[in-house]
Amino acid sequence: MPADHHTENSTPAVSLRTVPRDQHCVSRKEISSNALRVLYRLRDAGFAGYLVGGAVRDLLVGGHPKDFDVATDATPEQVKQLFRNCRLIGRRFRLAHVVFGREIIEVATFRANSDDGSGDREVDGGRLVRDNVYGTIEEDAIRRDFTANALYYSIEDFSVRDYVGGFDDVRNRVMRLIGDPETRYREDPVRMLRAIRLAAKLGFEIEPATAAPIRTLAPLLAESAPARLFEECLKLFLSGHAVESFLGLERHGLLPVLLPESAAALASNRSGALRRMLLEGLRNTDQRVANEEPVSPAFLFALLLWPAYCRTLAQLQAQQVHAAEAQRRAADRVTVHQLDTVALPRRFSQPMQEIWLLQSRFGGRQRKRVFRLLAHPRFRAAFDFLSLRLTASPEHADDVAFWREAQAKPGDVLAAQLEAARHAEDDIETASPPRRRRRRRRKPVSG
Ligand code: ATP
Ligand code: MG
Repeated sequence: MPADHHTENSTPAVSLRTVPRDQHCVSRKEISSNALRVLYRLRDAGFAGYLVGGAVRDLLVGGHPKDFDVATDATPEQVKQLFRNCRLIGRRFRLAHVVFGREIIEVATFRANSDDGSGDREVDGGRLVRDNVYGTIEEDAIRRDFTANALYYSIEDFSVRDYVGGFDDVRNRVMRLIGDPETRYREDPVRMLRAIRLAAKLGFEIEPATAAPIRTLAPLLAESAPARLFEECLKLFLSGHAVESFLGLERHGLLPVLLPESAAALASNRSGALRRMLLEGLRNTDQRVANEEPVSPAFLFALLLWPAYCRTLAQLQAQQVHAAEAQRRAADRVTVHQLDTVALPRRFSQPMQEIWLLQSRFGGRQRKRVFRLLAHPRFRAAFDFLSLRLTASPEHADDVAFWREAQAKPGDVLAAQLEAARHAEDDIETASPPRRRRRRRRKPVSG
């Protein structure tokens, strides 16, 4: 039966289903002991305490949640009084963070409204009118995005409380928006990315009515805060499911909004070489995450924006811009244009550009240049990137082989080898006039 909510123009049906402990697999053994401590203390103080959101969902599919969120009917101030190690954060919406060393348990009071719409819920001086914000557990459930994200694990009886059909959706591996999909996407377009990301992460299907509006509403995403989109990109591509995320973005028409210039370049690359390379790079990224090796946003964006860079570079070269200058300009242009949608911080865009610009230096075999490149702080990343380019075009095979060996050799051995190669070349060219390089070397000190 629909509850009486006046805040949504499409009110989803809310009816409680309680799944008892013996009918679900959420076990206290899998819940962080700090989260349990918070839940028990809330209960002992007479408040409701639930584990909620991604953690319940992940536990139901046998995953390991990376963080544990708690929902309660206690106000943030009441929570603060219960925990010495508690700080209140947020201006528009106060949240309690209970801090246990490196683990933070986020404790949120049930609330009625979406936290993402540009709200009229804020009153003077940033203080909130409590009745507008705090709500019942039912209201808290329907302001969440997907049914799978709206399950509550009760510390009272260890049951899972389901108000919107999320339990069956998790069991059937389905991402379904709560309420009317179009309305929910308009409230917060980032939910489109969350649908793709969570489906990719969990191996879920996006339910047809939830998927249907995405292609049409995709352009709304461009109005979301670029800083938030950057954070979403990191979650999409650096959490171990980058390939699936990319395919999902592609399938649902979100790529042209998120990465407009790369999407255009991929579309016009008939051979498909750029796409192959991109997917190979994302596959490597997933592998690294699985192996718990470090991954970097700079390398990731070098990869994601490489199609855009190649295309822009080709356009500039067609206008007869000199090679080095064209590279610099292409790198800058692609970076600046991308900032319109995704706010890539400078500390990442700079190394990203270096990875691109170093690519043109792998052809050099002069001793000095070889050693300078090997010593470059971005050499390793740039070399990994070059290896990836091999998937797109076999022409890089010689360079990859040369630089792989060069890294492995002791410096003096490499130096001797480069000298020998140079002399061999000189022998072939004995008939040619003396070269500048020699003349310069004999230049008198006084000039
Ligand atoms: P993960 O942590 O695996 O990325 P999550 O579902 O836990 O996934 P969070 O961003 O941690 O994602 O959000 C926690 C919970 O807050 C979600 O499970 C959902 O219930 C709610 N939520 C998050 N973002 C939104 C949103 N844009 N609209 C509505 N509810 C949201
Ligand atoms: Mg989470």
